[in-house]
Amino acid sequence: MTAGENSIAGEWQAAGSEFFHSVDPRTRQPGETRFYSATAQEIDAAVRAAADAFASTRLFPATTLADFLDTVTEEIEAVADALVATADAETALGDVRLNGELARTTGQLRAFSTLLREGSHVEAVIDTALPERTPLPRPDIRRMLLPLGPVAVFSASNFPFAFATAGGDSAAAFAAGCPVIVKGHPGHPATSERFAHAINAAVSACGFPPGCFSLLQGDGHDVGRILVEHPFLEAVGFTGSLRGGRALHVVAAQRPRPIPVFAEMGSINPVVITAGALAERGDEIVQGLAASATLGVGQFCTNPGLVLLPAGEAASAFITACRAAIMAIEPGILLNAAVESGLAQGVARSAALDNVQTLTREVRSRTQGFSYPHTVMQTDATTLIENPDLQEEHFGPVTLFVTWDGQDELDRVLRSLGGQLTGSIHCGRDEAESLRPLLDAMREKVGRLVWNGYPTGVDVTAAMHHGGPWPASNAANTTSVGSNAIRRFLRPVAWQDVPDELLPEALQNSNPLGIVRLVNGELTQGTLS
Ligand code: NAP
Repeated sequence: MTAGENSIAGEWQAAGSEFFHSVDPRTRQPGETRFYSATAQEIDAAVRAAADAFASTRLFPATTLADFLDTVTEEIEAVADALVATADAETALGDVRLNGELARTTGQLRAFSTLLREGSHVEAVIDTALPERTPLPRPDIRRMLLPLGPVAVFSASNFPFAFATAGGDSAAAFAAGCPVIVKGHPGHPATSERFAHAINAAVSACGFPPGCFSLLQGDGHDVGRILVEHPFLEAVGFTGSLRGGRALHVVAAQRPRPIPVFAEMGSINPVVITAGALAERGDEIVQGLAASATLGVGQFCTNPGLVLLPAGEAASAFITACRAAIMAIEPGILLNAAVESGLAQGVARSAALDNVQTLTREVRSRTQGFSYPHTVMQTDATTLIENPDLQEEHFGPVTLFVTWDGQDELDRVLRSLGGQLTGSIHCGRDEAESLRPLLDAMREKVGRLVWNGYPTGVDVTAAMHHGGPWPASNAANTTSVGSNAIRRFLRPVAWQDVPDELLPEALQNSNPLGIVRLVNGELTQGTLS
């Protein structure tokens, strides 16, 4: 049973009068449940409870936080089938994709609990005193990372599990010791509610303060804005559109006491295909690119939206083959009405520009659900450089092929691009060394370089970086995927000449936690005398 209420520090409430429905993307029909948007009072109660909870969670040992993450994982796995069925009804993403995404979500939670048990995430650094140093003695300085405080997490529409209620941002914030207030995405409110039950059960089972988790529903921007404006909030994790991320970044910056917003936003993920790659592996790349461009109906932030090719007959043949391969794939159901209308408007804007050809025809949709035909467009490098609007992300199955004439022109294209989550290069067998300048130029624009591969599919590992310069994200030095994501919700504090017994355990001489520390420039798990 879905109640349509908000979960405020473990209590289910619906004090407001504004409500919305979740919509079945396959039929466009709204469901029966009324989901009540959180009121200003409910938002205030959630953040105040989070601030109270932080008084405890900030002191919890890493192993206690790890136990909590493991319990959240178990609670999710216990209702996995129901979660998949509910999310499928709200997103039409299908069982296979959703089961995979659920495994990724529990994998993220487990990765953080493993990190916490290992302990190096606090980044303990100790520079012992040098009393004999001249002209001035050096004091004893010890530094580690501490949790920021209550974090607001904004769910994305296209990842109802992995970037949502118990997704990567929530997992990272909990792992850091921060209470979490989730602003649920209006596209999948019943899924958010189910996850909230799982997290609440873990909160009770672990004896955590109830305020360490709340779920706020809403389908206008007011809930998110009021939440980010709350004086007790300390940070925001956001995954979504450029427009939404930018708006919340501004709200946070205009507070009397600004707070950090970590926003992962859109990207067009350029793919450069060299003459050598076209000659040696053209057919194979056609298939790989068509699959990547249409995966998840193109609704991935890592969708390869821009393909750059050396002008000539080989490129023309490649584009023709790619168009055919993409058109041979049946379009799937889109997530919601906003994605559908946003695609139609965005593609119309791009297609109306001089010198941009649309190579695919509008075909009548065979489904009554939300849909948009697979779309292939083509232009040249000059047109792309002169029309920054062509860099707008089309959040769906839309691919723009751009041909360049000579290395200089490719360099200028890369320089003209905004920041990207990824950049990919396909090359021939003997071209690698000659492509060093291209790799270096691309490196300046992206968060992840992909060699002879495709950008969709983001592995959750310690080395992963999912972010990039603006507009891919607003904080290029942070990631939203992988265990490094925890750093967004921690801040460094240094202790100078503080007595050993008053230091946090991570910094004490005896190293009671047994963690790896950087002591006087050397990584060691040892103790200090
Ligand atoms: P969205 O429309 O930006 O919504 C995301 C969340 O922010 C929702 O909860 C939304 O709720 C809220 N929101 C949006 N605008 C707001 C505003 N002005 N003020 C306050 N709250 C606001 O994003 P989406 O629906 O998930 O759209 C998909 C986009 O996400 C694509 O562009 C995709 O590329 C991107 N994405 C990025 C990543 C990544 O890691 N970089 C991953 C997945 C998706 P309300 O509408 O209720 O306000």
